Amino acid sequence: MVAGLGQPPFRASQLSRHYFGRYTDRAEEMSDLPRAAREPLAQALLPRLLTAERELSCDGGTTRKTLWRTFDGALVESVLMRYPDRVTMCVSSQAGCGMACPFCATGQAGLTRNLTTAEIVDQIVQGGAGEVDNIVFGGPGRVSNVVFMGMGEPLANYNAVLAAVRRLTDPVPEGMGISQRSVTVSTVGLVPAIARLAAERLSVTLAVSLHAPDDELRDTLVPVNRRWKVAEVLASAWNYAAATGRRVSIEYALIRDINDHAWRADLLGSLLSGRLAHVNLIPLNPTPGSKWTASRPAAQREFVRRLEAHGVPVTVRDTRGREIDGACGQLAASARPPVPAGR
Ligand code: SAH
Repeated sequence: MVAGLGQPPFRASQLSRHYFGRYTDRAEEMSDLPRAAREPLAQALLPRLLTAERELSCDGGTTRKTLWRTFDGALVESVLMRYPDRVTMCVSSQAGCGMACPFCATGQAGLTRNLTTAEIVDQIVQGGAGEVDNIVFGGPGRVSNVVFMGMGEPLANYNAVLAAVRRLTDPVPEGMGISQRSVTVSTVGLVPAIARLAAERLSVTLAVSLHAPDDELRDTLVPVNRRWKVAEVLASAWNYAAATGRRVSIEYALIRDINDHAWRADLLGSLLSGRLAHVNLIPLNPTPGSKWTASRPAAQREFVRRLEAHGVPVTVRDTRGREIDGACGQLAASARPPVPAGR
């Protein structure tokens, strides 16, 4: 394409270095390109895919949610989280989601459409652009980790997500040079797609949103469980761990009196004991219209204790971005600003 625009082909690599390596698509910043060529090249090859509609920050500016509008008016959100040792971008893989989990705001809204590879990657490039030279916690703020935990079911948009993983992890100029180990793909448990991902022999982390150890409850919390049961989902996770050597992350949103019983902790512990897995407990975040709430502290502590008694490593997720509706399960991408806490 570059040659077709009357430029020497090596300019493709120069453009890629600007976009993937320096997080910029702005012609005026491409000083290694001849002045007259900058604008036509950038316009033809790096068109604006996402427009930032709104940005909200909290946690002292270390958490930032961006609402993006696509060329056809679809709305998606991404969340940037800065920590002392890393900068994590949580990206959307679809506008909306078709999985219909009743405790998740995205699932309640339904699926608008799949995002393209470029729309996924651009959330990190544009969303991370301000961070490259931003010195926080004594270190530069380049995006180091990417989690596919925003809107959508990544494995229901397999080809675009896989291509995005390659763009993120291939070295500059082919990609952004992020370590495969620092990329996490989270799924409700689409078993055939997990098998396919295992066969790619990547070193990305797989997260499985389990939320219940028994089919009776999981059928209601994660409706796709009616198609692929807990045993099949976990078997595919262990196959993924064996194929990649990567520890699988089991996501479990703790919902008061729904899935936080001691016997469920024991059942989960027995299913995971001895496996290459750890449990990431997520205190349920509030979503509009949901009657459910987070577990009582005592129930959460007991849940952790019982998993640990089975020898299963457990962490409780430090949930960022709640007051900007930017936490797990809260991304709904409405053009309305969230109602402040204490409504
Ligand atoms: N569809 C994929 C990617 C989304 S990841 C998946 O389900 O894994 C978002 C994570 O937040 C999932 O583990 C999801 O189950 C969890 N989640 C959804 N709603 C939540 C809520 N209200 N509180 C806490 N976690 C929630």
